[in-house]
Amino acid sequence: MDYKEYIRVIPDFPQPGISFKDITTLMKNGGMYRRAINDMKELVSDLKIDLIAGPEARGFVVGAPLAYALGVGFIPIRKSGKLPGETIEEAYGLEYGKDTLAMHKDAIEPGQNVLIADDLLATGGTIATSVNLVRQLGGNVAGAAFLIELSELNGRAKLPDVDVFTLIKY
Ligand code: 5GP
Repeated sequence: MDYKEYIRVIPDFPQPGISFKDITTLMKNGGMYRRAINDMKELVSDLKIDLIAGPEARGFVVGAPLAYALGVGFIPIRKSGKLPGETIEEAYGLEYGKDTLAMHKDAIEPGQNVLIADDLLATGGTIATSVNLVRQLGGNVAGAAFLIELSELNGRAKLPDVDVFTLIKY
């Protein structure tokens, strides 16, 4: 069964010209959600991973179950002002809009191997910023794994020194 049959494409969301890939229609199917996480686990099976970091909110939906499946910890990358402890922050531009991402200063022990996980790679801005934050904290970026890649936006160009793994390509 093709994953794309379970992903709803919504034109002009959240603004005109954006063709939004809605993963809620995949996630509500328990068998397909589990299969997607298991297939992502296979994609990264050769990597040494100590921790998974995922940007809110859909990075939690992919990253946390992947961390559970791999038996490693999960650390959140959040929008500014959400994390309760001391943070480092970096501003970035999105496919649509602008934002600032933050991580707890003590989230990573220097030298730990961190896989960054998110639902979708578009322009790469979110993950390039996540990579910078992980490296600022002394983490080694083991790779970046996504459920979906929008190939024509060429997000990989923003991640020249990161191994990128994606399950579904548009
Ligand atoms: P980027 O920073 O690579 O341009 O955008 C990726 C981020 O925006 C991801 O965190 C992702 O959740 C969100 N995003 C952008 N476009 C889409 C889309 O079509 N579908 C979904 N599910 N998320 C999107």
